[in-house]
Amino acid sequence: MSEEFKAGNLRAEPGTKVQGYLNVHGSDMKMPATLIHGTRPGKTVVITGGIHGGEYPGIEASIRLAVQLKPEDVSGRLVIVHPVNTKAYFAKMQYFGPDDGKNLNRMFPGKATGTVSERIAWTISSELISQADFFMDLHGGDIHEALVPFVLYSLAGRPEVNRISEEASSLLGLKYVVGSVSTNGTFGSAAVAGVPGFLAEIGQCGLWSEEEVLAYLKGVRNVLKYLGLLPGGPEDLGSVVKLPKMIVSTSEQTACWYPAVRAGDRVAKGQKLGEMRDFFANRLGEYLASQDGTVLYVASSLAINEGDPIAAIG
Ligand SMILES: [Zn+2]
Repeated sequence: MSEEFKAGNLRAEPGTKVQGYLNVHGSDMKMPATLIHGTRPGKTVVITGGIHGGEYPGIEASIRLAVQLKPEDVSGRLVIVHPVNTKAYFAKMQYFGPDDGKNLNRMFPGKATGTVSERIAWTISSELISQADFFMDLHGGDIHEALVPFVLYSLAGRPEVNRISEEASSLLGLKYVVGSVSTNGTFGSAAVAGVPGFLAEIGQCGLWSEEEVLAYLKGVRNVLKYLGLLPGGPEDLGSVVKLPKMIVSTSEQTACWYPAVRAGDRVAKGQKLGEMRDFFANRLGEYLASQDGTVLYVASSLAINEGDPIAAIG
């Protein structure tokens, strides 16, 4: 592999690691990024942390991966963005970007001439994912989400893309491996474009711990072994529970949320997930499980806006 590795405005010669800022197309925003061009040929992998600004385990894991991985250890090429959404990060916002109020993970593949979130999505899609063989999107349970670690892989791609995505997801060491047909998020959009990958969730409620970051590093390294970027075959990091889909319940009111379940609970269809009340404690509505399954996350804030996710069942 003699060619230089180009990712947006950054370049890395074979056998080098280059750190710098990736320009977001048509905007003054820049994303801290690391290119690692291995000494041996292999696949090209894109890793993003901080698509959501308040999901710290994925952000810290991506920062550390960028420090730890060396070109001499790598067969292939890696670009790590750590984090993507610096404005949302410093605004300490959940879900949304401060400039346009949009959820970046609903904007893929993005628009070259859109709002800031659409331009970030477009830059990642067209300049990074378009040349990738695999894509890992590291999330962390948002600021107002209590969750159990899980990984989403896409069912929206070709069968071979979906198969690789599912196989790699099962090697992350996370208990719940969940299929998804969404196409406007990072990994779903990548799958539609022919690039296998996943979206992982470790952490919750705007917190992060050393254990969570180490779990991320172990899992991501295991997937890099599976993909052949790191030497040695992947290990079995524990048995997984495969869930065919995730259904997200959203609020119909802007009010106060009183959950009746916790992340990780098993629920039956029709079981009460929680209720909304107004400021006078009047009950506005009750929310029921739409399927049997496991509660993957539940909103932890008392304050909920209409349209906010309140719980997800896999
Ligand atoms: Zn997220």
